[in-house]
Formats: sequence, C-alpha cells, structure tokens
Amino acid sequence: MQRDGLHVEGVALADVAARFGTPCYVYSRAALTAAYAAYRDTLQAHGLADRSLICYAVKANSNLAILNLFARLGAGFDIVSGGELARVRAAGGDADKIVFSGVGKSREEMRAVLEAGIRCFNVESASELDQLSEVAGTVGRRAPVSLRVNPDVDAKTHPYISTGLKSAKFGVAFNDAFDLYRRAAALPHIAVKGIDCHIGSQLLDPAPAAEAAGKVLALVDRLVADGIVLEHIDLGGGMGIQYHADEPAPAASVYLAPMLARLAGRHEKLVFEPGRSLVGNAGLLLTRVEVLKPGEEKHFAVVDAAMNDLMRPALYDAWHDITRVGADETATGTTMNYEIVGPVCESGDFLGHDRQLALNEGDLLAILSAGAYGMSMASNYNTRPRAAEVMIDGDAVHLIRRREEIPQLFALESTLP
Ligand SMILES: *Cc1c(COP(=O)(O)O)cnc(C)c1O
Repeated sequence: MQRDGLHVEGVALADVAARFGTPCYVYSRAALTAAYAAYRDTLQAHGLADRSLICYAVKANSNLAILNLFARLGAGFDIVSGGELARVRAAGGDADKIVFSGVGKSREEMRAVLEAGIRCFNVESASELDQLSEVAGTVGRRAPVSLRVNPDVDAKTHPYISTGLKSAKFGVAFNDAFDLYRRAAALPHIAVKGIDCHIGSQLLDPAPAAEAAGKVLALVDRLVADGIVLEHIDLGGGMGIQYHADEPAPAASVYLAPMLARLAGRHEKLVFEPGRSLVGNAGLLLTRVEVLKPGEEKHFAVVDAAMNDLMRPALYDAWHDITRVGADETATGTTMNYEIVGPVCESGDFLGHDRQLALNEGDLLAILSAGAYGMSMASNYNTRPRAAEVMIDGDAVHLIRRREEIPQLFALESTLP
C-alpha cells in the first residue's frame, strides 16, 4: 500500500477523516490489484496460470466493492455461508467460479448453493456428504464435490488459525479420505470433482504448505490408481502477510514456489483460496485520539476505534503497526510509551501495546494491515455503529459502506406487549 504517513495513493488521510469521520476503514484499489497480480503472476511464472482459478476467500473482507474488483480481475470466490453466496452474486461474481467451504453447512445453504450452480462443495465430513447427497436428490441435481482432507501438518501459526492438525475440527482425517472417496463415488447425487486442503492462516514458512500439497498429491495418485479421477486440486489459502515492520513476510513468488514446484507436469486444474494475502495490507483503520490518560504504570491513548471495529488484537493478541497520521514536525505531543485502547468496557479492548508515539488529543492514527479480518469481523458490541469504509483509487475516494446509524442497531428489536 502506497503510504507516506499522510496519504493513501493520491489522497490525504486527513481529508478522508474530515469527509467521512472516524473510525473509518481505508482501502487502496492499487494495492488490492497488486496483491492479486502477485498471486496470478506467480502462477504464470510456473506455467500454471491457464489451469488455475484464484478463489478469493470472501470472509477476509466481504465488502461488495472489493468482491466486485476481484470479480473484474477474473477471480472466483471461496465462500463459507449462504450469506457470502448472496454477497458474491450481488457483487457480480460468477456462480461457476465459487467453491463452498465450511465445517457446518446447513441444508438451506446446500440447497441455495446447489440451485446457484457453483463449481464445488468442499465437504468436511462423512455426514455432510450424506446430507448433501440427500439435498441434491430433492432438487434433482448432482452436487459437485471435493473432500477437504486434513493432512496432519503443523502450519506453525497461531493455534486459533491453525486448521491442518489431527486435533482440528476441520476436514476429513487423512487416513479416512480414501474410503470416503469410494463412498462418494458410489452416491447417486454426488459428482466427485476434486480434493481440497487448507492448513491454516498467516503462514510465513512455505514448508508446511508444500508438505501438505505433497501429501494431497500422493492421495490423488492413489485415487487414480483406484479409478477415481479428479478434475481439480484445491490447495487452499493461508499465505501470511507482513504485520510488523521488523517481521517481513515472503513475497508470493517465494512463499508459493515450493508448493507450485510439486505441481509441474500434472494435468489437473488448480484452485487456490487466498484471503488475507489479497486484502490485508491493502487496508488500514483510521482512528482519532479522544483522550490521553497518563498513568502511574501505563499511559493510555483512548481512540475512537475499538475491539468491535478490529477484533484481531483482542482475539489473537495480534500485532498491527500503528502510526500517527501527519508529518513528524507537526507532532506537538511528547513521545511516550502508549497503550492504544478503545472505549469498549473490556480490558481486552486494545489495539496495540507499548507504542512509542508523540500524541495529542485529536491526532489521527492509522492502524495498518487492517484490510483482512477487520471489518468482516466487526460487531456492534457496546451498541457502537460499525465504521465507514472507503476505497481510494488514485485521486478519487469512493464511499463503499456508509457508517451505520444508531437507530439501525436496534431496528430489529421489539419490546414486550
Ligand atoms: C479462511 C479460509 C481461507 C483463507 O485463508 P487466508 O489465510 O485468509 O488466506 C481459505 N480457505 C478456507 C477453507 C478458509 O477457511
């Protein structure tokens, strides 16, 4: 994301705050486009682009403008609910480029997704397979299916976003997958299409993804030998991004290389499900300092964004770099060690610990790398309206989600008669 502390692309963040208020999510169209291009160009460099589909994982950031932008770039989508299906369609995404993941799909969701005619269900259990076959029968269709296998590989990431170990709720145990494929192939309303694997998120080491791919490919070859031929292999998402100035993440070309090297010379189509790596560093959360509260042990800067706007610090103890918006010469505060906290009534409501900043009340702060799992995880806790979202495109600013208004927050509620 092009950013000099003051601007995103050609637009001053101070102007964004003046026009749309804070807290406000700010995205860069150029950065979103570049992140997608890095993924696609890496596939191209390995000679895989023609048979690959990049299915953006909608849950990372599901704003319609972002979905629409990726659809225009040619992306498909990885969805995890009927709600996300509706969003993708509202944003102009093609149904036949959608894959449907998730460990607990409801029958209504199965039906809606079958009727939409998507590319594939990523099935995560034997019971789901049976239920899907039954639902497909009632709508007179065959459900296209991949089994999401759990390769029992340690992704070496935060336990809450690690999904590929035996102990995880996700996927079909690797050793059960072969038999389940045989069963799937025999079910009347199931069409076996592929295989799927996603071992976790924010992965910085390329080795676990490559190891998982190796296991998946070995299983594919065993299936072929048994007469079960797959059209596609889905290797999931999970590529990590840089959150900390001192902790760089590998470029897509570096991270993906060991995994893609294993795919050379094969004929299957390929599906990828990146979420965070396409949007994370293309967004920031703009917030204003409300109150400075010097203390005996700690100094607090209370800002107008909170855990309901950006949950990652509270949920995962995640780090986001935080910078003061404005030239250093304009900083009138003294540099101190601040806890950057929100107004929500929880001690877990922090956005950053131990930040050396020169602050004054009224200053603007940018919480960086907030494009992924930021707004999509936001809530109305403390009856706080969710933030506005804007997209910068060169010198233009587009409001892509209006700030919620307070009456909307309880419009669905009623008092007793
Ligand atoms: C969340 C998720 C993704 C995206 O993961 P990122 O780490 O954001 O790339 C892909 N596939 C599945 C099944 C997921 O649950």
